Amino acid sequence: MFLALTEVIPKKLMNKNLSKNTADISQEKIDWREVQVRMKRTFGNDIFESWLKKINFVEEFKNYILLSVSTRFIRDWITSRYLDEILRVIRELNKNINRIELKIDEINLENSKENKSSEVEKKNISFIKDSFLQYNRIDQNKNFDNFVIGQSNKLAFEASKKVTENLAHYNPLYIYGGVGMGKTHLLNAMGFILKNNNKIMFISAERFMYQFVKSIKSNEMVKFKDYFRNTDVLIVDDIQFMNGKEAMQEEFFHTFNALIEKGSQVIVSADRAPNKLSRIQERIKSRFSGGLVIDIQKPDFELRYKIVQTKIEELSTLNYIQINIPEEVKKFISTEVKTSIREIVGAINRVVSFSRIYNKEPNLSETKIILKDLLNLSENNVTIDQIQSLVCKFFKISKNEMLSSRRSRYLVRPRQTAIYLTKILTSKSLPEIGREFSNRDHTTIIHSVKTIEKLKKSDLELCANIDTLKNKILYNKNNEI
Ligand code: ADP
Ligand code: MG
Repeated sequence: MFLALTEVIPKKLMNKNLSKNTADISQEKIDWREVQVRMKRTFGNDIFESWLKKINFVEEFKNYILLSVSTRFIRDWITSRYLDEILRVIRELNKNINRIELKIDEINLENSKENKSSEVEKKNISFIKDSFLQYNRIDQNKNFDNFVIGQSNKLAFEASKKVTENLAHYNPLYIYGGVGMGKTHLLNAMGFILKNNNKIMFISAERFMYQFVKSIKSNEMVKFKDYFRNTDVLIVDDIQFMNGKEAMQEEFFHTFNALIEKGSQVIVSADRAPNKLSRIQERIKSRFSGGLVIDIQKPDFELRYKIVQTKIEELSTLNYIQINIPEEVKKFISTEVKTSIREIVGAINRVVSFSRIYNKEPNLSETKIILKDLLNLSENNVTIDQIQSLVCKFFKISKNEMLSSRRSRYLVRPRQTAIYLTKILTSKSLPEIGREFSNRDHTTIIHSVKTIEKLKKSDLELCANIDTLKNKILYNKNNEI
């Protein structure tokens, strides 16, 4: 998600030595420094410095690892974007680890009621403790208070609220809509309120499947059944993934019926209407249709703008600083980022990160660069000729020199730079690029790209040059839009 930003922001002095230190760390335990080194390599300096460096290692258990960060915001950010990949990195070092728990380090200001309910929650999930379920717990940051309402999601919001006030009134509640429209947000919001007085189970359909298969393998089907049938509220996110797997659908169907019969609330979300679900039993679809079915549609301009405003304010509060984003940038994002609320939130996060890293308000051109991949800007607007001309001008060489076969040092690097930029800024294939660079072979093109990529890791000047050139190339184009 952050790639575009990473590419645009010059590498700063981020070469802290994170060399491996094995002293006083027992052999079996994971070496956190080593994990850091690998995370840095995997995610790149910017993401590492902005987010991952802040993670503290707390403790390692048999098959999971406990980490902490300082705020909810950071936890959520890391969980939603990087956690799976971090787990993969950790598993390179220790295959036994199959889960990460991220806790918040802040002084615990929560009232006792809250603590009590989280205890209940802990007890609730004890039997499934080893599963992936735990990092799928209710996210308190997604609540009704910070759900921004507009035409497209008003009904879904109201129905969700109603369910929390009057259990089993709409049963099941089925919320559907495209990716990033706020379904999971609403599910969390309901779960957060309902868990105070009810036994709740909040699970994604994928995890449900995983748990189902695991329970069969470990002969714990009875526990599995009991567990799910004992809840007062069953919330299943992304039900469309529960396709195929007849035995599991069978189990789900019976669980579903048992719950509805005893007056428990069932809430599901999906990316499509019940009748459009594929490879899901008809009888299940028809059960879904029997409750309240509500869709969330694409946000209109008004809602998008409201979200932009709200998210900037939220980030200001969370970071204890006033974040100023120019009005024209806010309007631009609200106008251009249309596909989903997730993308709008992503766009805001990038723009805000930019303003914090550079310590300045991003202007419109910068915003366009930062958000390039989110916007529908045609990459083909950038031509090879234009890249070659700009690179030649920048390095003060002639185009003939660049395209010649001479291997003088002062020509090789600019040539490789131009090839690299062509590769990343256009959609040309390697042979096509080769042809435009005096019929060079595609292996030469690969070599150039790899060389620059490698140098970028250590050569700060080269990084800065590339960023400058990239901005020049994109900036000129952006002005024409
Ligand atoms: P979905 O489950 O529909 O794919 P999510 O609930 O995960 O979408 O939403 C994507 C992101 O957008 C989340 O960060 C969520 O908090 C945010 N979001 C979605 N809708 C709203 C809204 N109406 N108000 C505030 N934030 C929202
Ligand atoms: Mg979702």
